[in-house]
Amino acid sequence: MSIMCGCKGAVNPFDECLYTPEATIFHVWSAQADSVQVLLMEGGEVVCKDMKKGRGDVWTAVFKGDHNGANYVFRTHTDGAWNETSAGVFAKAVSLNGDMGVVMDLRTTDPEGWDADVSPAFATPVVYELHHRDFSIDPSSGAAHPGKFLALTEPWSLSYLQDLGVTHVQILPSFDYGSIDESTLERNVYNWGYDPKNYNVPEGSYSSDPADPACRIREFKQMVMALHGAGLRVVMDVVYNHTYQTMGCALGRVNPGYFYRTGDDGELANGSGCGNETASEREMVRRFIVESVKYWHDEYHVDGFRFDLMGIHDIETMNAVRAALPADVLVYGEGWAAMAPAYPAELLAMKANMAQIPGVGAFSDDLRDVLVGSPFNSLPAFAAGAAVNVEPLKFGLAGGVEHPQVNGMVFWAAEPSQHVSYVTCHDNYCLRDRLTLSCPKATEAELLRMDKLAQTAVLTSQGMPFIFAGEELFRTKGGDENSFESPDSVNAIRWDNLRTYRNLFNYYKALIAIRKAHPAFWLGNAASVRELVSFPEAPDGCVAYFIDGDDPVMVLFNGTAESQTFDIPEGDYNVLACDGEASPVGLGNISGPQCRVKPLSATILSRI
Ligand code: CA
Repeated sequence: MSIMCGCKGAVNPFDECLYTPEATIFHVWSAQADSVQVLLMEGGEVVCKDMKKGRGDVWTAVFKGDHNGANYVFRTHTDGAWNETSAGVFAKAVSLNGDMGVVMDLRTTDPEGWDADVSPAFATPVVYELHHRDFSIDPSSGAAHPGKFLALTEPWSLSYLQDLGVTHVQILPSFDYGSIDESTLERNVYNWGYDPKNYNVPEGSYSSDPADPACRIREFKQMVMALHGAGLRVVMDVVYNHTYQTMGCALGRVNPGYFYRTGDDGELANGSGCGNETASEREMVRRFIVESVKYWHDEYHVDGFRFDLMGIHDIETMNAVRAALPADVLVYGEGWAAMAPAYPAELLAMKANMAQIPGVGAFSDDLRDVLVGSPFNSLPAFAAGAAVNVEPLKFGLAGGVEHPQVNGMVFWAAEPSQHVSYVTCHDNYCLRDRLTLSCPKATEAELLRMDKLAQTAVLTSQGMPFIFAGEELFRTKGGDENSFESPDSVNAIRWDNLRTYRNLFNYYKALIAIRKAHPAFWLGNAASVRELVSFPEAPDGCVAYFIDGDDPVMVLFNGTAESQTFDIPEGDYNVLACDGEASPVGLGNISGPQCRVKPLSATILSRI
């Protein structure tokens, strides 16, 4: 049959289930197996077929006829025994809880208008990280689809994000994960989702009907299309560094041992802190990761990838990921691991090695720690008025690249776009809670000043700014530092805050608008940063940050509890931010050579 002949050349080993109305072709890659079977379940019948081993350890079986919607599983025979069945490592559609693969005509999952879906033009990026339930589960959201992908298709959510002005929405794990039982969603269990089960299928609990295999796929696409329509790009949080289970998951069952690193003792290595770590340096693991991101980009039109514990992956793999995606697709991640991976540190995509991974970014714990403090202690930092070494702040403002006026830092970014500027994300305390922890006696008004001061640095940095959803609404998680399975009552954003903290929202919104209006804040390359960015003399506990060029701008950070006087160049300035207020149009004019800056606040000046 012609389909068979067409497959004999270069079979993609991860094309596990190729549907046509005439036949469904199954492939599975297993080097270890001496026999592989596929079991097709349709209309109450199970048909088991032995698969044939072909080139490159790819096993093949063909079922003639139209099998759209049928369930299937693979079973491998290794070391003298049959392993448990699984959906395969690259299922593109799954049954409830992701236990079985489903034959799927993917074109039937495209929402109306999908063919015309295009990503909005790439603009000065400002990333907004959200969890589906955090964002829309609280009744105050008014969501018609609380906690679901579809909440991000609703007018309230889209207009809110547009109003705030962010450019990229980063969604917490939205591939199929294992910690939520999709058959008992009425229990309203919460999880961040860092427990991958099927990497290439959306998570069922965020769909309207996880028992309908097409539903999660279609609704994910509806979400992407709606965000694109609103001018927003979509970044996925991807967690290839470990799996929820080891021999209990497809990667373990299809290719026992292959996907994971082991230590010298032969036991599973655990750089993820979750029981295993994947071995990206192995040819087929690397290829799996690359094929997976390509698939999310091609099939789901995803515009960026945030790699969880990227430091577990090797440098070559991250370069392969970068090369496989268009240049306007963002790739960045955590340049660290939970524990030391079982692989040489100099070969890993750790923060220290970012210069070897051009076009890939890493989160700047340097900027985070100097502004609000480390997650490993409760000490106050710059934004809370503590007397700290300000070099890491200058480092972060310059986007982590080598700069003659920044001292004592390891310049890990080769380009400023590699430096993800942030103070908080889903991990650890949210901003209000971190500031409260370090300054238990601070009034709410003082905490709000600190919050604004910290984010002014993030949003004027030469790096890529990243904010955690709800920080602009002064969200609190009640001091819950690791809320990965805490209930909605802890994690949900309260939309009433938009009234209570309107001033804070407006400040964030204005900062984003100011950033977009002044390209000086996103020079985009290290040479320009070194040429145009300088740090003039400033009072103790303060930083002055000047960006020269056609549109000179200056940011004066006062991290002390007193007003401070900064020397500035002679001339007239439009004040874009001052004393906790901000406006892209300006709040008024001042003239040099001095500028007074209120305690715990930042002033942004634009030369007239
Ligand atoms: Ca799931």
